[in-house]
Amino acid sequence: MNIYTIIIITTLVFSYLISLITEILNLKALRNELPEEFEGVYDAEAYRKSQEYTRVTTRFGFMTSTFSIILTLLFWFAGGFNYLDQIVRAWSLHPILNGLLYIGILIIVKSILSLPFSIYATFVIEERFGFNKTTPLTFITDLLKGLALSILLGGPLLAGVLAFFQYTGNMAWLYCWLATTLFTLFVQFIAPTWIMPLFNKFTPLEDGELKEAILFYARSVSFSLKNLFVMDGSKRSTKSNAFFTGFGKNKRIALFDTLIEKHTVKELVAVLAHEIGHYKKKHIIQGMIISVLHMGVMFFLLSVFISHKGLFEAFYMDNTSIYAGLIFFGMLYSPIELILSIFMQILSRKNEYQADRFAAQTTKTPESMIDALKKLSVANLSNLTPHPLYVFLNYSHPPMLERIKAIRQIRTS
Ligand SMILES: [Zn+2]
Repeated sequence: MNIYTIIIITTLVFSYLISLITEILNLKALRNELPEEFEGVYDAEAYRKSQEYTRVTTRFGFMTSTFSIILTLLFWFAGGFNYLDQIVRAWSLHPILNGLLYIGILIIVKSILSLPFSIYATFVIEERFGFNKTTPLTFITDLLKGLALSILLGGPLLAGVLAFFQYTGNMAWLYCWLATTLFTLFVQFIAPTWIMPLFNKFTPLEDGELKEAILFYARSVSFSLKNLFVMDGSKRSTKSNAFFTGFGKNKRIALFDTLIEKHTVKELVAVLAHEIGHYKKKHIIQGMIISVLHMGVMFFLLSVFISHKGLFEAFYMDNTSIYAGLIFFGMLYSPIELILSIFMQILSRKNEYQADRFAAQTTKTPESMIDALKKLSVANLSNLTPHPLYVFLNYSHPPMLERIKAIRQIRTS
């Protein structure tokens, strides 16, 4: 056992245990009595159902992560990484092609193994709680489209990274950083017009009371809103949402059809104001800058560790290679990722408060935002009383009750 084995195993087991413990705490924090704030919004039966949903999804998450850690350790200690490498090497192809196949096969095997879990989640759990609208046909075409996209977009990017490390020596990490940055910007730019429509139908919001109210609001905060779409979220689930994508001229806001169905015009304007708040408060740019910097650090560290013999010994490899180094570094990097993700969640929750505040102040009707949040929690069966530690580690949005409390404290004059 060398130092790399110890670091990676410790992280794997540690993060597994942490999530297990916080999930148990989260389940213990479930209370039978409905929080006062939600009286009249939830009836007792529906509230019980929401708690059952938390229980069922938590237990399922626990099963998935147990399966995943056992499988990873088995594959690792049975020498699976080396075994696959020997097979791929026997084909004696170009090293870059070897790399694409090696990583491609690992990803495909992993996806096949996780397929039963995602089928169960969609067609058994979501179905049982009345969320599921996905037909088997949609499920299968989603899978195939996802696969085609990963090959078309991910393939060339991966080939580029492998080639830079193969041919450009010490500066490889810098080229990789530049290339992935350009690539991410490109994908984010084309996503709203080329990628997302592959999965959903986006129709411009039709003229009427809602559109007028939204445009009136957008003008009041000088936000040029040209691309306002309704997305057929109901194709997959009854859950509702709204989001902001793209940037520059391509930026657009999409409201789920399931959202429009359940909310009043005032509430919808509030939801939209929240999304515009993210843009106005520069959260979108902030997210992009952080992820670009993060990629730089990651590629630099990758360049430091990718040639360390010990890393390959830890995985029982007969040969060193850039592609296998990439996978092993990914595992070695996970403790840093774990810590980083906690900071990202803290930042994200702070941004959510800001966007709520922006919405409450600019619409001047904080009550509409609160009503919208309440309806959203009921429609999505959100856990109203998550454990603080669970929130701290996993929540990108503050719990509903805390958001509502914060909005109530905002003065709007
Ligand atoms: Zn938000």
